[in-house]
Amino acid sequence: MKKIAIIGCGISGLYFANKLLSEKTYDFTIYEKKSELDLNDGYGIQLSVNSVRLLNEIGFNRIAASEVSFPKKVNFFEAKTSKKICEIDISKFNSENKRYTTLKRSFLIKFLLNNIPAEKIKNNLELTGVERGQKIKLSLSNNLTEEFDYLIVSDGVFSKTKSIILEKDTSPKFFNSVALRGNIKNLDNNDIALYLGPNFHFVIYPVNQNKEFNFISIIRKKLSKNEILNQNLFESSDFLKSLCNEVYQKTAMNLNDKLENIKSFPIYVSKKFEDFNYKNIYFIGDALFTFPPSFAQGASQSIEAAQEAFEEINNNSNSYYEKRGLKIKKVNWRSKLNHFAFHLSNPIIVLFRNLILKILVNNKNFLNNYLGRIYKD
Ligand SMILES: Cc1cc2nc3c(=O)[nH]c(=O)nc-3n(C[C@H](O)[C@H](O)[C@H](O)COP(=O)(O)OP(=O)(O)OC[C@H]3O[C@@H](n4cnc5c(N)ncnc54)[C@H](O)[C@@H]3O)c2cc1C
Repeated sequence: MKKIAIIGCGISGLYFANKLLSEKTYDFTIYEKKSELDLNDGYGIQLSVNSVRLLNEIGFNRIAASEVSFPKKVNFFEAKTSKKICEIDISKFNSENKRYTTLKRSFLIKFLLNNIPAEKIKNNLELTGVERGQKIKLSLSNNLTEEFDYLIVSDGVFSKTKSIILEKDTSPKFFNSVALRGNIKNLDNNDIALYLGPNFHFVIYPVNQNKEFNFISIIRKKLSKNEILNQNLFESSDFLKSLCNEVYQKTAMNLNDKLENIKSFPIYVSKKFEDFNYKNIYFIGDALFTFPPSFAQGASQSIEAAQEAFEEINNNSNSYYEKRGLKIKKVNWRSKLNHFAFHLSNPIIVLFRNLILKILVNNKNFLNNYLGRIYKD
């Protein structure tokens, strides 16, 4: 029986663990630094069909339909006027049971946890050292050591395990942007609404069939090093108020009394795709590469990466990093381009952008290349 250690109990690590459950030849342990996972927050996540197809293999198609939503379109609006610019029909990439899906992140985590025996997850533990040989010897924060055949690194954007293994500072970089997120209730909208403003955009989408919605805004912001590292700043009511005002003042939509549970956090992205060359060690999810959030692919790519790492181990093949590197390149430039195009501020350039958008969303070849290659390939 092969022994596998998984570091981090997020979307990628949990999906990977679910795949292992389907084979009798693996024994695994998940090490999670938090004492417990937050299974109650109401914030949302979007899953495109590439990850829904994989999730269905572990039973996602059997979850209660009331807990998810299936938006058919992305509607683009000008934030300043709420005037519709154009729409993309994302349902054209759907097939039976594999539909673009939005839901609460906490619901996805609950689903992924559902089949994993509690004793497989060791909380309050992180990795402190690695010795590589025939087996991988892990030193843990409880001063114990354990030997494994494989190590899966899925501890997210700030992966400490990555720095330990690569023996260098691998911290991500601040993306000069801040996220503002919250919940809204009782809107009359089943699709994804994307509002474009100068130096910000925001997205509203349903997270279930109970009229609950996710609000997420990405706002360009230059912050000093001290400010970025100051967690109190992001929690302070003054900072939250100033971020909200920045958005509220530039949008015709009345968000003021509607947004609840507002939070903010700095956005980080990976500096580069590292040259990974480690036998029996697989980085997946944000620990492998963290994208700008403007293409909503982080979770879907985390699930894809976990699937590919699982197949690599199961088939004893050797193409994981090469294949992943190619896909990451494709997703990364699209995410950066979206971010750039969504935030344009010069009115003449905005006019051109809107015109180009109107043409592109009706161009089948463009959509198949820009979205289809990510959602389907
Ligand atoms: C504003 C914003 C909006 C987003 N929206 C979307 C979206 O709509 N659709 C989408 O697909 N993606 C979205 N994403 C991205 C998505 O959330 C991430 O890509 C995804 O959660 C990454 O999963 P993961 O498993 O790699 O990491 P995570 O889900 O972050 O999990 C990492 C886990 O590791 C644990 N951990 C951390 N350090 C250690 C350690 N040293 N030892 C042990 N455990 C550790 C953490 O506690 C956590 O449980 C968004 C991201 C942002 C910032």
